[in-house]
Amino acid sequence: MHVLTEQFIDNAWVASRATARHPLIDPYREEAIGEVTAGDPADVEAAVAAARRALPGWRATPEACRGDALDAIAAGLERRREALAELSSRNNGKPLAEAHQDLDDAIACYRHYATQARALGERQGQRDDGGIDGLTARRYWEPIGVVGLITPWNFPLVSSAWKLAPALAAGCTVVFKPSEVTPLPERALAEIVREAGLPPGVVNLLHGDGPGIGAPLSRHPGIDKLSFTGSNPVGEAVMRAAAHGVRPVSLELGGKSPILVTEDADLARARDLVMAGICYNAGQMCSATSRLLVHERLADALYAAIDAAMGALRLGDPRAAATAMGPLVNAAQRDRVRGYLALAEAEGLTSETPALALPERGCFVAPRLYREVPTTSRLWREEIFGPLLCARRFASDEEAIALANDSDYGLAASVVSGDPGRAQALARHLEAGNVWINCDQVAPPHASWGGMKGSGIGRELGEAGFAAYLEPKRVTLPG
Ligand code: NAD
Repeated sequence: MHVLTEQFIDNAWVASRATARHPLIDPYREEAIGEVTAGDPADVEAAVAAARRALPGWRATPEACRGDALDAIAAGLERRREALAELSSRNNGKPLAEAHQDLDDAIACYRHYATQARALGERQGQRDDGGIDGLTARRYWEPIGVVGLITPWNFPLVSSAWKLAPALAAGCTVVFKPSEVTPLPERALAEIVREAGLPPGVVNLLHGDGPGIGAPLSRHPGIDKLSFTGSNPVGEAVMRAAAHGVRPVSLELGGKSPILVTEDADLARARDLVMAGICYNAGQMCSATSRLLVHERLADALYAAIDAAMGALRLGDPRAAATAMGPLVNAAQRDRVRGYLALAEAEGLTSETPALALPERGCFVAPRLYREVPTTSRLWREEIFGPLLCARRFASDEEAIALANDSDYGLAASVVSGDPGRAQALARHLEAGNVWINCDQVAPPHASWGGMKGSGIGRELGEAGFAAYLEPKRVTLPG
C-alpha cells in the first residue's frame, strides 16, 4: 500500500495538515493500492513560501546550470523507467507499452528544455538597436516568478514534464500539484529533483484535490503565474482566481477533435488512424479524434472496417503484452462514459459495433462507433473522454470543413487522404492547434501543443511553451 500523506516542500517530506484522504485504485483489479491526502491550504502556504525563498537563487543560477539540472532529471527518470512505467500502468490502467511511451515523451521534454536553457543563456543581453539613432538596446528574458502547475490524470509524468521543464529552464520556482487520481508516478519526481541537486524550494510537490490544494494554490497571491491542464469548468475557475492580481494563465483544456477521411484515402490506413485516435489510452485523451467525418463514397466501407477492428480489440490486463486497451482510469470515469452509452440509446443512435466480452472485473468500457450522429446530439458535441466514436458522412470538402469547425473546441485534427495537396488545403481551414495528415498524433517537444477556442489559452512545448514562463525585457540606453 502506498500512503501519500506527506508533501514535498523545501526538498523535504513534511506531513500534510489534512486528515482527509482519497483511496488510490488499480482500475484493472479494482482494488485499493494506496491513499493520498486531500491536501490543505496550510500546505499551500508552506510550499509557496518555500518557492518564494528559492526564487532569487534559482533565477540567478546560470542558464547552463539549470540545463544541467534538467538533464539530471531526465537521467533520473531514465534510471527508474521500468518501475515508473509499471506504477503508471497500475495507477492509471494504461497498457504498459503506452506507459513506456509516456516515459519517452517526458524524458525527451526535460532534455529538450535543457538545451533550450543553454540557448537562453547565449541569447541574454543580445543587442537590438531597433533603428533609433543614438540609442541601443539589449534584450533579456527573465523568469516570470513562482509558478503554480496543476495537471490531470491521463498522462502522468508527461503533462507535468511539459510544465516543469520549461518553467525550471526559465528560472521559475514551482509549486506542482499532480492529479489526486494518479499521484503515484508523479511522487517520484520529488526524489528525482532532490537527487538531481536542485536547491530546496525550487520544486515543491503538493498532493491533494481541488478544494484542498488546487483552489488555494490558484488564488494564492504568492503565485505569479498558473499553468493548468484539465477540464473546462476547472480551467475557468483557475482563470477567475488568476484575475485577482492580474496573473497570467496558460490553459490546456478539453477537445472534441475531428478526423477527416477523403474518398481517395487508403482504407486500412484510415481505419488504423481512426482506431488510434479513439482507442489510445482508452480514449482518455484531450486530443482524441472523437468525431469521424468521412466522404460518402468511403463511409460504408470505413464504418465496417472500424466495427471489425473494434470488435477484435484485446481488452484486458494493462500489464499483459497482448492487451491493446486497458480499463478507464476509475469507476467514476467508467460511469461517466456509461452515461453517454445510455444517452445514445435514449437518443436512438445506431451502432453496429460487435459487443465485446469485457474482462470479468475492471473499469472497462468497450469501444463503439455511432453512425450518422446528428450534430445536435450531446455525443457529437461533448467531450466524452472514453472510446466512443461519433461519425458522419460528407459530400464535399466545404461541408467537411464546416462540420469539423462546428465545435466549441479547437485542439487538434487529423486528415487522412490520398491527395497531399487536398489534405494540406483542408488542414489550413481547420480550427485546431495541431493537424496530423496521414500520420499518428505526434507531439515532439520542439513543436507547440495547445488549442484554439474553448480548448485553452496559450501553447505548451516548443518556443511558445518556453515563452509561457519568461518575461521579455528590453534595456535601452544611449550609445
Ligand atoms: P479536472 O479538471 O477535474 O482536474 C484537473 C486538475 O485540476 C486535477 O489536478 C484536479 O485536482 C485539479 N482541480 C480540481 N478542482 C480544482 C479547482 N477548483 N482549482 C484548481 N484545481 C482544481 O480534469 P481531469 O478529470 O483530471 O482531466 C480530464 C480533463 O483534462 C479533460 O477535460 C481533458 O480534455 C483535459 N486535458 C486536456 C489536455 C490538453 O492538453 N488540452 C491534456 C490532458 C487532459
